[in-house]
Amino acid sequence: MTAAGPGQEPTRTSRAGTGRAIALGAGALALALVALVALVAVPRSGGAVSRGASPIPSGSATASSAGAAAASADCTTAPAALGASSGVCTAPSASTAPSAAPIASTAPIASSPVSPSPTATLDTADPPAPTSARGFKVRATVVPLAFPLPSTAAYRYGDAWRAPRDGIARRYNQIRGIAPDGSYLRAHDGIDLLVKNGTPVLAPFSGTVVDPARRWKPWDPGRYGKVVVIESDEPTSPGYLVVLAHLSKASAAIGDHVERGQLVGRTGQTGNAVGTKPHLHLELRAPFLIRYGYAGVIRRLDVFDAEPSIRAADPRGG
Ligand SMILES: [Zn+2]
Repeated sequence: MTAAGPGQEPTRTSRAGTGRAIALGAGALALALVALVALVAVPRSGGAVSRGASPIPSGSATASSAGAAAASADCTTAPAALGASSGVCTAPSASTAPSAAPIASTAPIASSPVSPSPTATLDTADPPAPTSARGFKVRATVVPLAFPLPSTAAYRYGDAWRAPRDGIARRYNQIRGIAPDGSYLRAHDGIDLLVKNGTPVLAPFSGTVVDPARRWKPWDPGRYGKVVVIESDEPTSPGYLVVLAHLSKASAAIGDHVERGQLVGRTGQTGNAVGTKPHLHLELRAPFLIRYGYAGVIRRLDVFDAEPSIRAADPRGG
């Protein structure tokens, strides 16, 4: 997590002749004192910011558009690259809002735009997620996690799990039925949080950023766009994975270890979210295969409905 904005200037040091050395030294000492006082006075960004359950729309600072409106559907098709093997995805999507916050334009933005949700701290008292498929409830199991958006973000719930989708259902995708020709009808594997482009995306749990193309084959970047996938190493959800998709920017690379509540990217409309309402697509996947039947077919999949977990973590109370 970087605290300094891109506009920050490097500090300068200068040295003068010996005659002025003492005066300079005294001045530097005074400056240091001022800096120390400032450090003590200003709350640290990125630390355990205890903001309480602040109301959702940030009244003041950013003009967090509550503009995200009606329904969404991520069904169009557009190619999108999933970053190189390093996983570092730097190119912002062409059409969307710039990912770097405009620092100079509005003074009140000075405070960090990333304020973790109150759920950003691991609560070990939370009932742990199941460690096996036995008794797993595909539409009701709750995985302890942190809400993936800052407490200042204005968001709404969009399309839910199993909403209709066009296209081929991969082996790792759930289905919503069988077409007359026998093929599977694809369904929405995650939930959508409607939120303006460029919104910070926070790690729902601590863990390692993994390469989805090695985990699920064939991985479909044209569908998911730019993603950050985190494999949890928290004691209440070990091995669970979260897929954060359609990002405009990824701030964590494959192999990185991230902490719960850490900034890992910015929302966008990459992949098949082009042309839809801006949203974060979020999937949860289990560390084991769950056997379940739907539309007369029994399959073994790791994906399940993320909505109960997200609503449980929602600082607004779901
Ligand atoms: Zn979605």
